[in-house]
Amino acid sequence: AAAVPAAVYMLQDQEAHAAEMERTFIAIKPDGVQRGLISEIVNRFERKGYKLVAIKLIVPSKEFAQKHYHDLKERPFFNGLCDFLSSGPVLAMVWEGEGVIKYGRKLIGATDPQKSEPGTIRGDLAVVVGRNIIHGSDGPETAKDEIALWFEPKELVSYTSNEEKWIYG
Ligand code: ADP
Repeated sequence: AAAVPAAVYMLQDQEAHAAEMERTFIAIKPDGVQRGLISEIVNRFERKGYKLVAIKLIVPSKEFAQKHYHDLKERPFFNGLCDFLSSGPVLAMVWEGEGVIKYGRKLIGATDPQKSEPGTIRGDLAVVVGRNIIHGSDGPETAKDEIALWFEPKELVSYTSNEEKWIYG
């Protein structure tokens, strides 16, 4: 049989792996930005093997914060939470990878830093629930909605990283 060039196998692998790809919305909240934790947090996602496909620093308006947290509008802390999110720069990001939505939440840790395991972002770097430094989408639908809320399609950058063949095999 004619030899199949290695490049064809690689293409098939990449297509298979592209089908598994998902994207999640991750934001470093104003407390994380003010505390100089951007590089620490980005580093954890990068080292894991996830790919950054969008990033920007913005100060959201209160109305925007209310849209982002609309699911929580009946909660007593909603108003304070929206005031807080709009109180300073937020680093908004989209990260891509297999299982990144669910595993990204694991990297982040429990909502209340006092219940987050050591080794997680909130476990290692935050103390109270009202200042838990980072947001991550909690499921595929939320991820889709939050990416669409924070980013325009043209801000999402699709590219192949040279490391992918070592991360996914
Ligand atoms: P998560 O951010 O882990 O997905 P939730 O969606 O339940 O958690 O809550 C959104 C955000 O609201 C939390 O990250 C936290 O900043 C804030 N929050 C949640 N519970 C409380 C609380 N009891 N008091 C103050 N802020 C809270």
